[in-house]
Amino acid sequence: MKTLKSYVLGSWQEGQEGNLSFVTLVDPSTEEEIGRASSAGIDFGAVLDYARQRGGPALRAMSFGQRAALLKEMSKVLREHRDELLDLSARSTGTTRADGSFDIDGASGTLAYYASIGWRLGDRTFLPEGEGVQLAKTEGFYGRHILVPRPGVAVHINAFNFPAWGFAEKAACALLAGMPVITKPATSTALVTERCVELIVEAGFLPEGAFQLICGATGDLLTRLGADDVLAFTGSADTAFSLRSKANLLSANTRVNVEADSLNAAVLAPDVVDGSATFGLFLKDVVREITQKTGQKCTAVRRILVPRDRVDAVQAALIAKLSEVVVGNPADPGVKMGPVATSQQLKDAISGIAELGQSARIVHGTGHRTNGAGTPAGKGFFLQPTLLRADDARDAGAVHTREVFAPVATLLPYDGTAADAAEIVALGGGTLVTSAYTDDAAWAADFVARGGGGTGRIYLGSEGSVADAPGSGAALPQTLHGGPGRAGGGEELGGMVGVKLYLQRVAVQGTKTLVDGLVGEP
Ligand code: NAP
Repeated sequence: MKTLKSYVLGSWQEGQEGNLSFVTLVDPSTEEEIGRASSAGIDFGAVLDYARQRGGPALRAMSFGQRAALLKEMSKVLREHRDELLDLSARSTGTTRADGSFDIDGASGTLAYYASIGWRLGDRTFLPEGEGVQLAKTEGFYGRHILVPRPGVAVHINAFNFPAWGFAEKAACALLAGMPVITKPATSTALVTERCVELIVEAGFLPEGAFQLICGATGDLLTRLGADDVLAFTGSADTAFSLRSKANLLSANTRVNVEADSLNAAVLAPDVVDGSATFGLFLKDVVREITQKTGQKCTAVRRILVPRDRVDAVQAALIAKLSEVVVGNPADPGVKMGPVATSQQLKDAISGIAELGQSARIVHGTGHRTNGAGTPAGKGFFLQPTLLRADDARDAGAVHTREVFAPVATLLPYDGTAADAAEIVALGGGTLVTSAYTDDAAWAADFVARGGGGTGRIYLGSEGSVADAPGSGAALPQTLHGGPGRAGGGEELGGMVGVKLYLQRVAVQGTKTLVDGLVGEP
């Protein structure tokens, strides 16, 4: 069984026996033990010093264009080892090849996208933001905002479901901004992240101290963060709450970004008739969002709102498609959906379905573990895709409060108006993404006006987008990923939005000549 290594202080350090005990990693399809991880023995103070004293200065001495070159190399290395990483992803996280590519290609694609942003920013070491403004009667006193790299360390903590994309999307933004990174993947699926980092380190292009990896617990790392640092977290709302409440982070006003749970909703508008292209897109997207990565996506659809008189028909159409999904070991070529990632996830999912069952009824699936194709009976963390239905959307209890992180969603009726749909979606307390399927521009505008403030992204599915739309679950680097309330209140990706987390906005005041000269404008 492999013992995972952390990459700290410029070398690989294998987990040791110590006060932080080993966590065992298993193949979720077979339950075979495939690795163990511990960060015991790591001196987190030294890790931070190394990043602050070596990595930070080296990165800040580079221009955006030079840092873009690092991202391009990272992307290239991951692309070159795509097949190996997909195989590892299947074994360690239970993904089919298509689901694994969502993670691995998402990682290389996001790095490449941020490299392209960096090229455009070119030789600069800091950025002007917006226009300058004259602050007095003459140009003798003038002001302008600039963005400079924050002088601390970016600590990244990620969830188990995207071991490659998760580290890459955060690292892309921080490294481009000029901040050194300490990344900590979720332990259960860290084999993929460890291998990605190994490949990047072996390629030898990153400056010393620019990037470190912790496999295992974070020890006293977070209590050592201060005013110049950034903590970016992705995971459950409970963990987010405990981390962002740490006294040192609060007292130093450390910048903290949280991407957390979300009860994303898909809304079918009343104009979309059975058999239309838009209805086909709705069905395809919803089934994909329930089953892709076995429902373990923060952007997966959890609530499906359908006009009351259409619920029976939509339920039948969804069940017909969900029944075709073969669940099992992704090593079996006939399998379309793998297991959930850990035994704990399976337990949480089963207890979550039971809780949803108090205010909704299961109309497809069992709510219990199932055997998987291509694996011995009794082995593997498998669940059938599970569809529930509640007949009173406003009294659906846990459907609006409990994220079941598995292939599980609930059908809810509404009265067909944008107002009713927006109010029901809002019961979820803030989403990462809300999707609406309509060809009625006025209905869409009404829905966006009423529901836009409760989500980070609105995905509009219509006849014109059938050929191109990737599904509401795809977090693309060009547009914002993050959402208000339950979703964590964070902002990632979205082009420069994600990079600005790692940059300090400074108002520079002085003569116009001096200020414009600073930002490279005559
Ligand atoms: P989790 O249990 O909260 O763990 C997330 C990360 O936090 C892991 O790396 C975990 O490490 C670490 N962690 C836990 N306790 C910690 C502590 N006291 N100090 C430092 N680190 C700590 O969440 P998960 O089960 O991995 O992920 C599932 C959740 O993530 C779901 O709720 C999902 O919605 C959310 N998610 C959100 C997004 C988004 O972008 N909004 C994306 C993906 C997932 P260990 O693994 O070592 O415990």
